[in-house]
Amino acid sequence: MSVGELPPLLVSGRLDRLRERLAQLPVEALVLHRLVDVRWLTGFTGTAGLAVVTPDDALLVTDPRYGERAEGELGSSAAEVRIEVAAHERQRELVDAALVGHRVGVDATALTWEQARELSAGPAASVEPVGAVVAGLRTIKDAAEIARMRAAAAVADEALATVRPSLADRPTEAEVARALDRAMEDRGADGPGYGTIVASGPNAALPHAAPGDRVIGEGDTVIIDVGAEVDGYRSDMTRSFVIGEPDADQELWLDAVQQAQEAAVDRVRPGATGVEVHEVAVAALAEHGLREAFVHGVGHGVGLVIHEDPFLARSDEPLRPGQVVTVEPGVYLPGRGGVRWEDLLLVTDDEPEALTSSPKDPIVR
Ligand code: ZN
Ligand code: ZN
Repeated sequence: MSVGELPPLLVSGRLDRLRERLAQLPVEALVLHRLVDVRWLTGFTGTAGLAVVTPDDALLVTDPRYGERAEGELGSSAAEVRIEVAAHERQRELVDAALVGHRVGVDATALTWEQARELSAGPAASVEPVGAVVAGLRTIKDAAEIARMRAAAAVADEALATVRPSLADRPTEAEVARALDRAMEDRGADGPGYGTIVASGPNAALPHAAPGDRVIGEGDTVIIDVGAEVDGYRSDMTRSFVIGEPDADQELWLDAVQQAQEAAVDRVRPGATGVEVHEVAVAALAEHGLREAFVHGVGHGVGLVIHEDPFLARSDEPLRPGQVVTVEPGVYLPGRGGVRWEDLLLVTDDEPEALTSSPKDPIVR
C-alpha cells in the first residue's frame, strides 16, 4: 500500500472557531506569528507569513516570493482569509491598518522581541500575550486531518514490517534508520515525521538517542521510534525489540511497559485528563519496581507538529474526541538498555482508536 488519494483539506469553518474562542478572551484581535498556526487557519505552507484576525477582517500577509503559492493554497483550502503580498515595510503598514484601535492578542512564545516592539509601537489599543490560542484549537482534528495521520501511520507500519527482518543481520543503527526513512518515502510519505530513532544496547537507555554506527547484536534491546509525514501531518510510533533470547530483566521490562501502556491507553477517554493517563502508567511501572526508570511524560498531541498540545503529563484539561495523542511509557536503565511502546491514538466518544498497528512481537531470532 502507499499513500493513496486523500480527501481535500478544507479550512473553511476554522475562522469561525477561532473567532468564537476570541470572544472568550480579553482581546478583540489576534496576530498569528507561528507558521503552523497560519497554515491551520489558511492552508498556506510558505515559510514566511503571518495572519491577522479581527472581528470583521482576516488576512494573510506574506512576501512576493509566496504570492502565487498563497493564491493557490488559500483557494484550494477554501480559506475565508484575504491575501496581502508585500515587502517588509509595507507589511507593517498593512498589519497596523488592520489593528487600529483593537486590543490585540499574541502568543508570546511565537514572535520575536522585535516583532513585539513593532506591534506595540503601532496603532493597536493594546498588545498582550493570550497564550497558544490556535494550538488549543489545532488539537481537535477533522476527518481530512485524521485521514492524513492515518496514512502517515500506515506508511510507518509498512516501513517497519519491511525493515524488521534485517535486525537479525547485525546492521548498524544508522543503516536501519536510513532503511526506514527510504521505505516511508518509497510509499509516498513526504519524509520521516521526525528524526527516526534506532537505539540499541546501552543507547536504548537514552529516550531520544540519535542513530549511530553501533552494530545491533545478540542480547541488545533495540528501540525504534518511527513516523512519517504526509501532507504536513505526522505519525509517531515506537516498537522495542530484543535480539535473541531475552534475559529475565529484559522480559520484566517488556512486560511492565506493555502493561503500563495497555492501562494508560485504556484511560484515554473523553473527560480523563492527561495527568490521569500519565499516573496510570506510573502506577503500573511502580508495581514492577520500575518507577524511577520512566523518565518522561506518557504522551503528547501530534498533528502538523510532532510534539504539540496536549502534553499529557502536565495537562489538567479533559481529553476530547478528535484529539490525536501518543501513549508511550518506557523504561531506561543506564548502561543496559531500554524498552518503549508507543501508539498514536484518536480519542473517540468511547475507546480510543489506534492509528498505528505494528505488531508488538519483540523477540528477533
Ligand atoms: Zn515517538
Ligand atoms: Zn512521541
